[in-house]
Amino acid sequence: MLYEKILDISKRRGIVYPSFEIYGGVSGFYDYGPVGKRIKQDIEDIIREYYVIGENCFEVECPVLSPESVWIASGHVKNFSDVLTECSKCGEPYRADHLIEEHTKTSCAGLNSDELYKLIEKNKIRCPKCNGGLEMTYPYNLMFQTYVGAGKDKITAYLRPETAQMTYLPFRRLYEIGRKHLPLGVLQIGHSFRNEISPRQGMIRLREFNQAEIQFFVDPDNKKSANFDKVSEIRAKILTKNNEEFEISLGEAVEKNIIKIQMIAYFLGISLRLFEDIGINKNLLKLRQHKDDERAFYSTDTWDIEFMSSIGRIELVGISDRTDYDLSAHMKLSRQNMMVNYNERNFVPHVIEIAYGIDRPIYCILESTYTEEKDRMYFKFPKRIAPYRIAVFPLVNKNNIPEKAIGIFETVKKNRIYAIYDDSGSIGKRYARADEIGIPECITVDYQSLEDSTVTIRDRDTKNQVRVKVEGILGRLI
Ligand SMILES: [Zn+2]
Repeated sequence: MLYEKILDISKRRGIVYPSFEIYGGVSGFYDYGPVGKRIKQDIEDIIREYYVIGENCFEVECPVLSPESVWIASGHVKNFSDVLTECSKCGEPYRADHLIEEHTKTSCAGLNSDELYKLIEKNKIRCPKCNGGLEMTYPYNLMFQTYVGAGKDKITAYLRPETAQMTYLPFRRLYEIGRKHLPLGVLQIGHSFRNEISPRQGMIRLREFNQAEIQFFVDPDNKKSANFDKVSEIRAKILTKNNEEFEISLGEAVEKNIIKIQMIAYFLGISLRLFEDIGINKNLLKLRQHKDDERAFYSTDTWDIEFMSSIGRIELVGISDRTDYDLSAHMKLSRQNMMVNYNERNFVPHVIEIAYGIDRPIYCILESTYTEEKDRMYFKFPKRIAPYRIAVFPLVNKNNIPEKAIGIFETVKKNRIYAIYDDSGSIGKRYARADEIGIPECITVDYQSLEDSTVTIRDRDTKNQVRVKVEGILGRLI
């Protein structure tokens, strides 16, 4: 219900809406409208502040399309698959593991295509839609495949299913640019693509999605953070791989070896702080450790932060120790040396990865900040992520009031503050429209403004209005 309400407002007010609507749409693709794009930009800027400024990371931007060799080395061509089965009557495709898990209530993580088919037969599972028989299972690669070039130059290529691999490729160059220092952190923000089977959950499961992934190249013998004491007091709800659930400080979780790698604990703390800053309700966040059969085989420990939403848990970030798996794989296939000589030892650096989605956190912000009162609804966005910092209204469209209001609007914009100007309908309606997209404050220029150069500023959350001098406005907004 909350989910539908939020998607409805999102469509109406230009936050997000389905792509290609005039051609009927394709599930798994969403547009960011004028309001959503502003929010997304703010969130990306906050991530930059946290990592490029706060953690001294580099930021890079690489192509979304890359030759097959990249994904052969990374293991995606071989392993990045779901096992599917199709209904022989209605043709509906299903993920075999999900279908079996729903039916038998037992996990089938790690089973191969044949083993899954045997389970379908054994449990006599049929198409949930039409009760038709299910066909032989087959692996289905989630990458979008295409070609680059033509004729003898034509090569197979894929749209990247994650930004991470693209960040690994220029490691040698980045290491030189960073003056051969470890840890070396590199952020990449951009689109990634996964050809999911019938995604149904709106903007939660997208086929083209936005990521902000940070790769920390580290000394394998030093997976610690120099600033851990800055987050060690943060308390968090934890769900371990053994299904134990409790609340604990990050410092204690490391001491007790619940979170084995201190650097992972550090970035869990940083991420909790970041999520709170962008408006996600911290009481609904939980740190979840991946189970042994769900973790990538090369990873020694992986943790997610999940948001307990009205439609179930939503993964917001995954933090994992990828060891030297990726760099070694690229070293082997490309025959380029990825070893470093650091502190008089030779090694391939390990990677601690912090992988944020952008789209899912935006949905979680909408859910966290959605507020209903008897006569109105609004999003209680923190000022930093509100699509516009201020709205400017002329009380009436005559008697020099619009001129004065436009003057204020232009001054605000000149100071690089995002603002909107709205002169249509009653003031009440304009407040309601501003509330619906979470604008923190509205300025109204009225008759008194012409006499004493003051305006009213109305607060979104309290609805309180104060009268202030026009000269004082900028100081308030910055
Ligand atoms: Zn069917």
